[in-house]
Amino acid sequence: APVSAQAGEQANAAKWEPARGEPVVRFRGVTKTFGDLEVIKGIDLDIYPGEKIAVIGPSGSGKTTLGRMLMTLERPSGGTIEVDGENLWQMEVRGRMAPASDKHLHRIRGKIGMVFQHFNLFPHMSVLRNVTEAPRKVLGLSGEEARERAVEMLGKVGLADKLEMYPSQLSGGQKQRVAIARALVMRPKVMVFDEVTSALDPELVGEVLETIRDIAREGDMAMMLITHEMDFARDVSDRVVFSAEGRIVEQGTPQQIFETPQSERLKSFLSRFR
Ligand code: ADP
Repeated sequence: APVSAQAGEQANAAKWEPARGEPVVRFRGVTKTFGDLEVIKGIDLDIYPGEKIAVIGPSGSGKTTLGRMLMTLERPSGGTIEVDGENLWQMEVRGRMAPASDKHLHRIRGKIGMVFQHFNLFPHMSVLRNVTEAPRKVLGLSGEEARERAVEMLGKVGLADKLEMYPSQLSGGQKQRVAIARALVMRPKVMVFDEVTSALDPELVGEVLETIRDIAREGDMAMMLITHEMDFARDVSDRVVFSAEGRIVEQGTPQQIFETPQSERLKSFLSRFR
C-alpha cells in the first residue's frame, strides 16, 4: 500500500539505533515558540559521550534555536533538556523540582562549550588573555594553571605563535580558532558549533573546519555541529540529524543520510548541493 510522505518520514526517523549508556545531552519533547511562531515542534534527541552530531536542514528550520537552547541562551517553551544528567532549567531542592538557581545554571554552562558564527572575543584582551579569562574566573584556576592550559589549547588550534596578539590583528579564521580554544580550555562535556564558518571569507573556511576536524578526532567530548557545509558534516560526524520545520525528519549515519536519504524533504534538500 502506498505510504504517505509524512508517515514514511516518521518511520525513518525511528530507524537510527542509539548507542548504549547514558547520553550526555538529552532533549525530551522540546518545543520553542517565539510569539505566535512555533519554531521547534517537539524534539527528542540524545547525544552520547564522544558522539559528533551534525545538524543540517533548510534555513529557518530551527537549527540555531536548537543549539541556543542547548547553550542555555534560549529557554524551551516546553519539554526538558539535560546535560550530564542535570536538567538545565530545574534543580532538585529538598526532594522537589524548583527553578534552577543562577549558581546551578552557571555550573552547567561550564560543561557546555560554545562557538558562534561571530567570534565574540574580548577586543581589549590579548589572545592568551581571551583564553585564560574563563578558567581563572569560572574554574578558579591560578594564573599559571590557566596559562598552561590556554597555551596547550592555542597550540592545538595552531596559534601558539599568536599569544600576545590582539583580536584586531588576526584574520577571521584565526579569530574563530581563538574562540574554539577559548571553549575547549574549559574541558566541556559537549561542544556546540553554531554555523561557525558562515561569517568567514571563503578562503578562511578550510582552516577552521580543519581545526574542528582535528579536535573531533580526539577525546570523548560530544559535539553538536550546526552546519551548511555538507562535506564537512559527512566527514566529521558520527550521526547526521536532518531537521525541517522544527522537527527531526530523518537521522542516520552520514552514509545513510547522504547516500540513501529516505524522505522526500531530505532528498530535495540534498539535491540543492549537487
Ligand atoms: P535555522 O538555524 O535553521 O536557520 P533558526 O533557529 O535561526 O533557524 O530560526 C528558526 C525560526 O525562528 C526563524 O523563522 C527565525 O526567524 C525564528 N526566530 C529565531 N530566533 C528568534 C527570536 N529571538 N525571535 C523571534 N523569532 C526568532
